[in-house]
Amino acid sequence: MNFKKDVSLADYISFKLGGKAKYFLVAKKKQDIIEAVKTAKENGIPFFILAGGANVLVPDEGIDGLVIKTLNTKYKILDTKIMAEAGVLLGDIAKTATENSLSGLEWAAGIPGRIGGAVYGNAQAFGSNMASIVDQVEALNAEDMSVKVYSNKECGYLEKTSIFKKNKNLIILSASLLLKKGDRNKIRDKMEEYLGIRKSRHPLEYPSAGSVFVNDPSRPASSYLIEQAGLKGFRIGGAQVSEKHSGFIVNKGGATCKDVLNLISKIKKTVKDKTGFDLEQEIQILGYPQLTKPVEGEIIR
Ligand SMILES: Cc1cc2nc3c(=O)[nH]c(=O)nc-3n(C[C@H](O)[C@H](O)[C@H](O)COP(=O)(O)OP(=O)(O)OC[C@H]3O[C@@H](n4cnc5c(N)ncnc54)[C@H](O)[C@@H]3O)c2cc1C
Repeated sequence: MNFKKDVSLADYISFKLGGKAKYFLVAKKKQDIIEAVKTAKENGIPFFILAGGANVLVPDEGIDGLVIKTLNTKYKILDTKIMAEAGVLLGDIAKTATENSLSGLEWAAGIPGRIGGAVYGNAQAFGSNMASIVDQVEALNAEDMSVKVYSNKECGYLEKTSIFKKNKNLIILSASLLLKKGDRNKIRDKMEEYLGIRKSRHPLEYPSAGSVFVNDPSRPASSYLIEQAGLKGFRIGGAQVSEKHSGFIVNKGGATCKDVLNLISKIKKTVKDKTGFDLEQEIQILGYPQLTKPVEGEIIR
């Protein structure tokens, strides 16, 4: 296997920031992922999974471990089911679904990232989500190196979370999605409508990792709360609360991971003080598996 050393991760994540991975491997096959985990374990090296990098931060000091980039990209269609390996782009699957007149993935048009990341974080948009189409997920348990197939129910899906997010030993290898026969033109029209909405609302001109906080339907949208707290456009270093969509933090140039974490802390505290609501951080910090909760950073400006 082609392990590389000291690889800069900024090029691999949509936020375009952060340090280097001490070890880095591009896994082009399912077996590569399994072998890489095995090698890391045998050598006592911590390992972390990176898919499309569209929902992660990388610490400025880098990652003292092995980053496994999933690029296993095989998929097949069986009637209304699509079986896809973890490294397939979600957008490619949405396009394939359209070409095959399969409905159920229209909402996913324009969401960056790969199947593994989408299954892990229960990607969602326009009132639909992965939980509503995932049939089964095949995952490696790094603890005992067993491979198990999880039913939709066993995935433990809730708002923006799954069993895979809660148990860092589980590594998604592939997933099967259950769609429905539909009208190709209608599916395409819906996707174009959603893409148009994204382009008009999201700050796609700057690097980001999408919505920073979980949008739980039980409370007002994070973008609304952040605006109410007076933080639209608020900036720390190179990281800024987007002026176009307050739920996004954008990299205005030269942002560090610390800038983003400090801004997240500032937002959480101000929103709590001014609106009474607790925001839950959605974006993950690669290299800190234990930190699925917000990091409190020092506010530097
Ligand atoms: C402009 C923009 C718009 C966005 N819009 C949306 C949106 O509308 N809806 C939405 O839900 N998200 C959105 N996002 C966020 C992002 O696209 C999704 O969260 C996406 O599903 C992340 O997938 P990824 O492949 O990039 O995952 P990554 O960012 O690479 O990884 C995310 C997490 O999943 C883990 N992971 C990835 N693959 C595996 C695996 N095989 N096994 C175990 N763990 C794994 C990683 O370790 C990490 O903790 C947006 C992001 C951007 C930049």
